[in-house]
Amino acid sequence: MHALQRCIAPLCRATYDVSDVLTSCPDCGSLLDIDYDWDRLPVPSSMREFEARWSNRRNPLDLSGVWRFRDLLPFARDEDIVTIGEGQTILQQSIAVGGYVGMNPGALYLQYEGLNPSGSFKDNGMTAASTHARMVGAKMAACASTGNTSASLAIYASTTQVFKVVVFVGSGKIAYGKLSQALDYNARTLQVLGDFDDALQRVREVSGERGIYLCNSVNPFRLEGQKTIMYRVLEGLNWQVPDWIVVPGGNLGNSSAFGKAFAELKSLGLIDRIPRLAVINAAGANTLYQLYEERDVRWDGGMSDDDTINTFFAEMDASQHKASTLASAIEINRPVNLKKCLRALETCDGVVRQVTDQEILDAKAQVGAGGFGCEPASAASVAGARLLRREGIIAPSDRVVCILTGHQLKDPDATVAYHAGDRALFDAKLGTRGVEHATFANSPVVVDNNLQKIIEVLERR
Ligand SMILES: *Cc1c(COP(=O)(O)O)cnc(C)c1O
Ligand SMILES: [Zn+2]
Repeated sequence: MHALQRCIAPLCRATYDVSDVLTSCPDCGSLLDIDYDWDRLPVPSSMREFEARWSNRRNPLDLSGVWRFRDLLPFARDEDIVTIGEGQTILQQSIAVGGYVGMNPGALYLQYEGLNPSGSFKDNGMTAASTHARMVGAKMAACASTGNTSASLAIYASTTQVFKVVVFVGSGKIAYGKLSQALDYNARTLQVLGDFDDALQRVREVSGERGIYLCNSVNPFRLEGQKTIMYRVLEGLNWQVPDWIVVPGGNLGNSSAFGKAFAELKSLGLIDRIPRLAVINAAGANTLYQLYEERDVRWDGGMSDDDTINTFFAEMDASQHKASTLASAIEINRPVNLKKCLRALETCDGVVRQVTDQEILDAKAQVGAGGFGCEPASAASVAGARLLRREGIIAPSDRVVCILTGHQLKDPDATVAYHAGDRALFDAKLGTRGVEHATFANSPVVVDNNLQKIIEVLERR
C-alpha cells in the first residue's frame, strides 16, 4: 500500500502506518491526513476514465458513488471495502432555487446528498471509516453525533455486521428522524446529559480507554470518503470546475475534505483550477465565522495564530456561551476540524458567512418548493449563497453549487412548525429561537367533511 497517515502540522509531519488506529498525532496532538505516494500508484490520466464504471454497476465497488473513485482514495484493498451503495447522488440544476438566491437561470446547482442510504452525506465518510475499521479488525465502533453520524454508523453496522456499535448523542435536541434511525438499526444508544461537544469529548475518552474504533470526523479515513462528493459535482458539470462550492459548516469535516480533494486533483493535473469555497455557519453556532472573518485567523502554512484561537475558546467558556440553532446538525461550539478547514479556505480562496435561523428556515422552504427537501442545516448553504449574492461576492452568472447535506424527513418537526399556520406551535418550536415569521408558509387548510365545502375552498385560491 502506498498510503500512510501524516500529521498536518508543518513542524511535525510525523507519519504513521495506515494500520494504526489514531485520531490525532501521538507526537504533537494535531490532526492527521491520509497521504499517498501518487508516483507509485495508478492515477487516471483524466477524470473521464471514471465514467466507464457506470456500465459496471453489478460490481458493488463500481455501484458506489464513493468507491468508483477508489483510485483517488487508495488506502484499502478491494476485498476490505465496506459498501452499502452510498454516494449515488447527482448534481441537479435548480432554476427555482437559483431565482431565490438571485442567480441567472441555470447558474445554481444543488448537490443533493439526502439521497444517501441513511439520508445524509455522512454515508460518504462512514463507508471509508467502516472500511478502515474492518482493515484493523475492529470489533466495536463508536461516534458522538447530533444525529446523522449515528444514523449512518448504525446503518453500516447493521447491514454489514462487521462490527458492533455504540452511539453517543447529546440529550434533548436530537431530531426524531435521526434518533429513530439509530434505534431502529439497533445501535446501542447513550444519551449523554450534555450537548454535542460534551458527547464528543466523552466518546473520545471512552474509545481511547476501551480500544473502541472512533468514527467521528477526527477520523482521517472518513474525510477520504467525503472527498468524492466533489468528484461527483465535477462529474455533474461534465468535469468543468464551478466558481463556488457552498457548504454548511458544523464540525468542518466536509469543508476540510473538499479542500483536500481539490488540492490533490490540482497537483495530479486532473483539474486546472480550484473553485472558491464558502462555509456557512448558523449565527447561533458561529465559531468559524468569528475566528476567520472577525479575528482574521488563517491557516498561514500551518502556523495559524493559536493564541487568538485559544483566547476565543477561553472567552467562550468564561461567558458560558453555548451554541444554539434550529439547525441542530451544525450546533457545535468547538469544531474539531478547525485547522483543516482553515487550510481548505486557503486552498480555495474561501469565505465564511453566518446566517440566522430565520434565513435558514426561509431558504429551506424555498428548497422544498423547488422539489429538493432538506433539513434545516442543509439550507444554510442556500441562505449563505443568497447572502453572498446580495453582497456582490457571488456574481449572478457564476456557477454555484450548494451542498444539500441531509434529507427533509430527518427533522419534520421544524418543517411542520414552520408551515402549519398554528401560531402556538410556531412560537413553541421556532419563536423561542428568534424566528419571527414563516415567510413562505404553506399552511394546511381545515375544511368540513363535505363535498360542497371542499369545492368552495378549492375555488377560493
Ligand atoms: C454533519 C452535518 C453537517 C455538518 O457537517 P461538518 O462536516 O461537520 O461541517 C451539516 N449538515 C448535515 C445535515 C449534517 O448531518
Ligand atoms: Zn504531529
